[in-house]
Amino acid sequence: MKLLDPSEVAKRRLDCFLYYIPGGEQFFATHYESLQAAKQWGFQVSEHIRLCNNMDEVLQFIHHWDTARKSLPFATDGVVIKVNDFAQQKSLGMTAKSPRWATAFKFKAEQAATRLLSVDFQVGRTGAITPVANLEPVLLAGTTVKRASLHNADQIALLDIREGDTVIIEKGGEIIPKVVQVDISQRPDGSVPFQYITHCPECGTLLVRDEGEAKHYCPNEMHCPPQIIGRLIHFVGRKAMDIDGLGDETVIVLHKQGWLNNIADIYDLHQYRDAMIALERMGEKSVDNLLAGIEASKNTPFARVLFALGIRYVGETTAKKIAAAVGSLDVLSRYGEEELKTIDEVGGRIAQSIVAYFTNIDNLKIVHRLQVAGLHFEAAAKEMLSDKLSGKSFVITGTLSRPRDDFKALIEQHGGTVQSAVSSKTSYLLAGEKGGSKLKKAEQLGVDVIDEELLMKMLQEKVDG
Ligand SMILES: [Zn+2]
Repeated sequence: MKLLDPSEVAKRRLDCFLYYIPGGEQFFATHYESLQAAKQWGFQVSEHIRLCNNMDEVLQFIHHWDTARKSLPFATDGVVIKVNDFAQQKSLGMTAKSPRWATAFKFKAEQAATRLLSVDFQVGRTGAITPVANLEPVLLAGTTVKRASLHNADQIALLDIREGDTVIIEKGGEIIPKVVQVDISQRPDGSVPFQYITHCPECGTLLVRDEGEAKHYCPNEMHCPPQIIGRLIHFVGRKAMDIDGLGDETVIVLHKQGWLNNIADIYDLHQYRDAMIALERMGEKSVDNLLAGIEASKNTPFARVLFALGIRYVGETTAKKIAAAVGSLDVLSRYGEEELKTIDEVGGRIAQSIVAYFTNIDNLKIVHRLQVAGLHFEAAAKEMLSDKLSGKSFVITGTLSRPRDDFKALIEQHGGTVQSAVSSKTSYLLAGEKGGSKLKKAEQLGVDVIDEELLMKMLQEKVDG
């Protein structure tokens, strides 16, 4: 449905059934009545909904559809049960995530038995190893399945999964089915327990496993090919630097040529313009488009640059929150774990990962090259992070955890102003240790005195994703 060409979408003969009228409680007493009205208005409402008067009727309905659903012309995986009376719905209310007046009954996932031929190990962008089962093709819930997820080493050991075993696979909510059980009775003679790999299948480096983590990692971040390519693809992606003309395929081709070994290399690609034009399927026009896209990406705002760096566990939303809290990469790189944890949404795992990133000399070199290339490593004044300090004036005094200029920049990025002397018009005095005369003056004039922690709270209070 996301296609730009509506005539192409129309060809796909999509249909929809409506199941809820927002605001319906203003006009109807019950959910069922509101749906009947919608039907009369000409909307499509499922003909299979039923008004049940007690739990027995609900259970009968579920029981009936457990088998009858297989003859429906569309796939189903469960039944939604709702309280009908709007007044009762209102008094039941909501939890943080979902209404208390509705729940889903999931039918048992479909399973199939097949033989496990071999196990592949995939290396992800962050070096995480994922074992994948190669199976004898089997039909499951309407599709032929050849591969299934094995999750991690613990899961394989727990189920005692061995090559040659007959395994039970299941399709839950996920796209890729998973192995849930082994049929031990079918186990061939001479079978041996599965040996999990100890070295990266792509670069041969000894794998590591952090305490409390289920997955093994290849620690060879800088030289393990799938990690290099994965980070490059992440960096140029739409939610990160959004570089036009540098798709996954092109990244792989340029990496193979030896021109892209890390994200900083992207900004040196212009050196290879002629050589790129000579490549198959590239051409002058597409190369110039690519180089223009790279140039334009230098205007990407700081929060997205931070996300693009691909620091483990720093997702899109977390990057935004961190950018809003620190204002620049320079400040971020000087933060310790404890300081990081004061930022909204940053827990121990993320804090550790950020500190590790900035203690790695290779990362620092790359960041430096990106800085020289002209990427935004601080939230520019014009690129305001928020206006939550708008109309507020600050004076800074005493010894703070970071240089005063850092705090000045931060206040300004959130719309505030910084003055040098306290007056009756000053909104807040940001005071560190040993405040001195400014502190006294503020107290005399009744100006609010705040510390760093309070300032951070003010900045984060209304930050949204
Ligand atoms: Zn590796």
